[in-house]
Amino acid sequence: MAELPDRAQVVVIGGGVIGTSVAYHLTKLGWTDVVLLEQGRLSSGTTWHAAGLVGPLRASESGTRLVQYSAQLYAELEAETGLATGYRNVGGLVLARTPDRMVQLARTAANGEAYGLETELISPERAQELWPPMQVEDLLGALWLPGDGKVNPADLTQSLAKGARQRGTQVFEKVRVTGFSTIDGARGPRVAGVRTDRGDIEAEVVVNCAGQWAKALGDLVGVTIPLHSAEHFYVVTERVEGTHPDLPIMRDQDGWTYFKEEVGGLVVGGFEPNAKPWKSPNDLPYPFEFQLLEEDWDHFQILMDQALLRVPSLEHTGIRKFYNGPESFTPDNQFLLGEAPELDGFFLGCGFNSVGIASAGGAGRALAEWIVAGAPQDDLVGVDVRRFAPFHGDNAWLRSRVAETLGNHYAIPWPNLEVTSGRPQRLSPFHDRLAAKGAIFGSKMGWERPLVFGPADGSLELEYSWGKPGWLPFCIEEQLACRADVAVFDQTSFSKYIVSGPGALASLQRICGGDVDVPVGHAVYTPWLGTHGGYEADLTVTRTGADSFFIVSSSATTVRDLDWLRRHLDDATAVDVTEAYGVLGVMGPRSRELLQGLTDADLSHDAFGFATSQVITLAGARLRATRMTYVGELGWELYIPVAEAGRVYDAISAAGARDAGYNTIESMRLEKGYRAFPRELNPDDNPVDAGLSFACKLDSDIDFIGRDAVVAAKAQGPRRRLVSFVADDPEVMMWGGELVLRDGVPAGQVTSAAWGATLGSTVGLAYLVPEDPPATLDWVRSGSYQVNVGGVLASIRVSTRPLFDPGNERIRC
Ligand SMILES: Cc1cc2nc3c(=O)[nH]c(=O)nc-3n(C[C@H](O)[C@H](O)[C@H](O)COP(=O)(O)OP(=O)(O)OC[C@H]3O[C@@H](n4cnc5c(N)ncnc54)[C@H](O)[C@@H]3O)c2cc1C
Repeated sequence: MAELPDRAQVVVIGGGVIGTSVAYHLTKLGWTDVVLLEQGRLSSGTTWHAAGLVGPLRASESGTRLVQYSAQLYAELEAETGLATGYRNVGGLVLARTPDRMVQLARTAANGEAYGLETELISPERAQELWPPMQVEDLLGALWLPGDGKVNPADLTQSLAKGARQRGTQVFEKVRVTGFSTIDGARGPRVAGVRTDRGDIEAEVVVNCAGQWAKALGDLVGVTIPLHSAEHFYVVTERVEGTHPDLPIMRDQDGWTYFKEEVGGLVVGGFEPNAKPWKSPNDLPYPFEFQLLEEDWDHFQILMDQALLRVPSLEHTGIRKFYNGPESFTPDNQFLLGEAPELDGFFLGCGFNSVGIASAGGAGRALAEWIVAGAPQDDLVGVDVRRFAPFHGDNAWLRSRVAETLGNHYAIPWPNLEVTSGRPQRLSPFHDRLAAKGAIFGSKMGWERPLVFGPADGSLELEYSWGKPGWLPFCIEEQLACRADVAVFDQTSFSKYIVSGPGALASLQRICGGDVDVPVGHAVYTPWLGTHGGYEADLTVTRTGADSFFIVSSSATTVRDLDWLRRHLDDATAVDVTEAYGVLGVMGPRSRELLQGLTDADLSHDAFGFATSQVITLAGARLRATRMTYVGELGWELYIPVAEAGRVYDAISAAGARDAGYNTIESMRLEKGYRAFPRELNPDDNPVDAGLSFACKLDSDIDFIGRDAVVAAKAQGPRRRLVSFVADDPEVMMWGGELVLRDGVPAGQVTSAAWGATLGSTVGLAYLVPEDPPATLDWVRSGSYQVNVGGVLASIRVSTRPLFDPGNERIRC
């Protein structure tokens, strides 16, 4: 057995498809001092028994690009390594049994167009021509995806490993990582190497690609890795008439099943709605090499029944083998990538939710780029491990949540779908009061947040549809009350930090695009940008003293923002005070009058101007009031110590403020054209494209991260342009993600949309992308626009200015 080296630049843990892909891409980028450790044999974990489906079309553009690259790599790898991957570009079919599924397929087809991917909606008859063994009598149609393919997962892993070896990676099988060494780094703890059952290896970077074992390894060094295994099934049948090696992949999602040809028979697998979590992440067996779990025909029955319905000849076809393998699932069905916020140099690539084979090429490349460059090189917000907090690491919680995420895998991806398991996690001090008043809650970063208020008897339910939902009339009333009178919003879930210390101002001037060297009591809306000028965060910084600042950011980004601060603060500290304050937004033209009745502080415009903040006594509580709005109305955000928060709410409510929820905030912010991270503002978007360069201190000579990139972008003009829009037909409903056409030609995508009560129609924001940049105002104005809404074209009016109150008269008064 070869000796382990004493040190390496990078140690990759795990010789599955992900670990080998990371090693392959690291060496391709020139980092050749790489050691890959596998406790068993290459591919012997989850990878060897995967079905091998590779479907590039994903819900997001970044996800789609990632799998597109995988497919290209798998097709070309043999030429480089001499080892075939078994990749075949056979195309894919997705079937629809119901009108709602047809709408989803039409939306997916339009998304494909937006991402430049070939898609075609076809009839059941055409689907049957492409896939002869199935019956199609119950189908309404299908989506044809010529770019789909299949690959042999074990061969792919060997080929990636060979490519990595050829450029210097040392691969060791039968070596188990048992622990880690850490040191005090410049900005906190840093990984310094791994301990194994065959000795220690020093390393600058450790990459945890240990599949379902990754969480237990993370626990050894205090790194949260929210994944949990679940049993995942398919069978391989004997010969089926009408199959051939190039038979397309077929997905019958209304029957939770997928089908793939294999040596003349079919692989029949699926995502049953009643999923079956496996052992706790800290209780997984070892050794566990090329092993399967027990057959469970009872559990598989629901999938088999549906398979028989789709392919009747299976009734008389024998089963060659039953596969039951464990696969890791995450709380939101997206994988986990990136550097752990708890430990520098410790990277993760795990939790692949049954799409690890399809994702491996792109994810491996993205992670390798991140390691080499020290920062992600694309928009990876949706898979970035910093979207989770330590409380997401609880095994019992994960167990209940992954059962739901796996079960939902083939369900219709309704807009704004709320998960129901593992709730509630975090409750605001107003929760019980709001629940008693008919609030329907959604969850964000564990917080229960009111979405809309129905009748107090709780008779309104959150229903999902592509069209106008049942809760919309209630939301409309809330919106109108806020525009005409005054509404109160529970915004406790805002992330909140205090940054203080002698270096606070200098650090924040460098971190913030905006100028935060303002008088005490002033609040600044500012981006945090990466070196390429893309958005890392979008938030408000209030100066509370010479060396202290109060930062308010979006609910979902607490861990991400704190990590950014930790990396960039010098001689200053950041403290997370999110849970210390209840937050009420009191918004609307009557907000001043209402609040003035509860405080002796002078709330007049002269004494309390827009974008200023004061500590005042209101309803008997000492609290911070900040004159800010995310709904485009006169209003104050109140940051109230938790113990007193309920009392303040009672006083505001008794004074006549109408309760309103996050669905109302969404509609009103879109009428006003306010952007949100990451939907309009992600690491691929810069302030010039987003129309927000005014929020950067470009007219000063103060340097900030991303400044050069923004200056260059400004000189070149926007590559694309974020515009507001309103639908001509008030019956049309959009949700975000829809394809936009300019003069009949695909030209961009809706980022967010909701029904705006004041404008009386669907409103939203969309990026428009010209073929020949820059996206000039003339180019925007000279087009006529439509949105593909589930296959139906809806005309929209586009504006580069906010559609509601463009002069800010309602705010600055
Ligand atoms: C039934 C089934 C069907 C599937 N079908 C598909 C499909 O069609 N398409 C698709 O894209 N995906 C599919 N998947 C999912 C896919 O198999 C996984 O997402 C993918 O294999 C995950 O790869 P990985 O490298 O993260 O994990 P693994 O393959 O499990 O690799 C992790 C490796 O780390 C090693 N390891 C763990 N701990 C240590 C340690 N302490 N020291 C050293 N080594 C360690 C393990 O031995 C293991 O080999 C399917 C999964 C299942 C179960």
